[in-house]
Formats: sequence, structure tokens, C-alpha cells
Amino acid sequence: MAGEAQADCLFCKIVAGEIPSTKVRETEHTLAFRDINPQMPTHVLVVPKAHYPNAAALADADPQLAGVVLAEAGRVAEEEKVDQSGYRLIFNTGSGAGQTVFHAHVHVLGGNAGLREKL
Ligand code: ADP
Repeated sequence: MAGEAQADCLFCKIVAGEIPSTKVRETEHTLAFRDINPQMPTHVLVVPKAHYPNAAALADADPQLAGVVLAEAGRVAEEEKVDQSGYRLIFNTGSGAGQTVFHAHVHVLGGNAGLREKL
């Protein structure tokens, strides 16, 4: 069923505490933790605790939860003090776009002047 934990999903295991992570924030329905391979000084992932394979599937099944994930990304940016300097939110979707973990997550990236370059 949509949203149910998947036995073979890395981020479901992180949410369940079966694999360790460096937690940044947690709410009833979301978890934010540091990316294990940071690409910028601030590189945090925000995930819904429920399993959806990507951001669009999450928004389709539960638009409110998708909004909560985005709001949490904003709070992470504030707490990491990159909200003033600017930060980037990235949802890779599909292996062709570099998605490697098929549990919806947003990358919160900041703290680097390279962000001034437009995508
Ligand atoms: P990409 O690997 O291209 O960034 P995704 O958008 O699917 O693809 O992002 C998955 C992210 O999860 C990667 O940035 C990766 O470094 C991170 N990651 C993988 N394993 C862990 C882990 N155990 N703890 C924290 N982050 C992880």
C-alpha cells in the first residue's frame, strides 16, 4: 500500500533507526539528516517517514505531507543559517537524473558561493 515501509529501502531503515544517521530535525511525519557524502557545507536530506518512491508520487498521494516536507526543508535552511545567503532544494527523480535512493527526499544544499551559478 502507498506509504508503507519497504523492507529493502535504505531511508525506511534510517527512519526506523535500523541504520544510523546524523539527525538534524524530526517531526511526527518527517526526518531530516545529514547526507553521508556532502556536496556542500550544508547538505541535509529531508524525507517523509512514509515510503513514496519519489517527490511526485509523494505529492500525488499526500499533497499535505509534500508541503510539510518542503516546510521542513525551509526550517533546516534557517537552522543551518543558509536561509539568508541562499540555498537550493533538489529532488532527483529517476535514475537518469541521478536518483539512487527511491524513497522521496529533498536535498537542502547551501553555504557555497557556487550556488550563484544558475542550473
Ligand atoms: P544522488 O546519489 O545522485 O544524490 P539521490 O537524489 O537518490 O541520488 O540521493 C541519495 C543521497 O543519499 C545521496 O546524496 C547519498 O550521498 C545519500 N546517502 C546514501 N546513503 C546514506 C546514508 N546512509 N546516510 C545519509 N545519506 C546517505
